[in-house]
Amino acid sequence: MRESWQERFADAPDVLIGARRGRTIVPVRDFAVGGDEFIVMAGPCSVETESQLLSTALHVYKAGARVLRGGAFKPRSSPYAFHGLGLEGLKLLARAREATGLAVVTEVMSECDVPLVADYADILQIGSRSMENYTLLEEAARSKRPILLKRGMVATIADLLRSAQVILDNGNPNVILCERGIRTFEPSLRNTFDAAGIALLKQTTHLPVIADPSHAAGDRELVPALARIGVAAGADGVLVEVHPDPDRAWSDGEQSLDFDGFAAMMAALEPWIALRNPGFFAGLDRGASALETVE
Ligand code: PEP
Ligand code: MN
Repeated sequence: MRESWQERFADAPDVLIGARRGRTIVPVRDFAVGGDEFIVMAGPCSVETESQLLSTALHVYKAGARVLRGGAFKPRSSPYAFHGLGLEGLKLLARAREATGLAVVTEVMSECDVPLVADYADILQIGSRSMENYTLLEEAARSKRPILLKRGMVATIADLLRSAQVILDNGNPNVILCERGIRTFEPSLRNTFDAAGIALLKQTTHLPVIADPSHAAGDRELVPALARIGVAAGADGVLVEVHPDPDRAWSDGEQSLDFDGFAAMMAALEPWIALRNPGFFAGLDRGASALETVE
């Protein structure tokens, strides 16, 4: 690794490649994040109702998702917006897991809620607004649940890696990094998707990286393209917002895909995911015959 990166990320020594042998593969239920399989996490921004969550869970499961996302404790920009169902939302997530076998990722916002959320979630999400809350990170780490650590909207890569280091320092190696877009001078989109950041994280750290095209774009029309860019940049999976009726969603409807949109996104993603498999070209006849033609 370049010395300048080592210097820049000096506060996160254990996160960097070389700090340990091989990549971190995070076990979750019957699969793993950071291994050969590309992991799709999908679901509504917020858990709203039983039928909303269960129908979404079933749909994303059938389309190939492994993890159901859904916020029960919601950080929102407006103090007057919906802030989540709390415990009732966690119970609905557990019911959806039972019905589908999907793992559950959901956000925890306060260190006081860590034991409760950890009781229901397979993966604890630390949101963008909480990325630098070290008290929360320490408590979440001690729960021993895998942590999905979202990059703060104004956090540098070094800031993100420092937060990951806090989790490792507290005895939890199972950290999944998430690029969800950052604030820049460009106002056309909600955030600017930092694809280079994903490539850099994959090149400098041993941790799995997930791309969140929904919060990066803020616009459902751009989500499939950003998801493909995430795969090409080397992400180990995507986190995508899906809702049965996005225009009526209680939060982030403008960036949520409906069921057909999600199925289309998955179909468009498939060839890109196949390219991640190093054996893909070796298994194709046309590679050999093309070479013969040239010779
Ligand atoms: C979310 O995942 O719904 C969320 C609130 O994300 P972020 O913390 O990235 O804004
Ligand atoms: Mn959201």
